[in-house]
Amino acid sequence: MPALDTAALLHWPLERLEGGYVAHSQLEELRKLSSERALLIESIEMNWLTPDVEDARVAAVETGDLPRLSSVDLEILAIALITGEKLFTDDYSLQNVCRKINHPFEAVSNRKSEQLWAWELRCIGCKATRKVDTKKEIDCDICGSPMKVKRARN
Ligand SMILES: [Zn+2]
Repeated sequence: MPALDTAALLHWPLERLEGGYVAHSQLEELRKLSSERALLIESIEMNWLTPDVEDARVAAVETGDLPRLSSVDLEILAIALITGEKLFTDDYSLQNVCRKINHPFEAVSNRKSEQLWAWELRCIGCKATRKVDTKKEIDCDICGSPMKVKRARN
């Protein structure tokens, strides 16, 4: 069973998450992002740990990534190192530590999920939408109001 970062908790189907290793501190982080999702996650069987982060901290100091890691990031890294399991994360710094210390890792979002999570620009005035390639926000060419990046409704 892999160690899972919070992006996996947010986006993966529940049956894929079951049995995975996670840090208690991630639940708190998840509640801030989506309380409904946090409730669902709490309802399934997962391995919640509060790891000793010392070895993870040492590894992150050695690779130079420590300043870019949150305390939650460090805990999930620690869990991956302690259990020896593959770490699923989209965090570049976590991936970097794993790469340099030769610990297995994989991105949370594969090609398929990138297609699922499309983004669009939506005007806050007239609600017009248009496709985006980047998350750069622009003004609406119909009414001139700012357009905000939103997750596209499929
Ligand atoms: Zn508009």
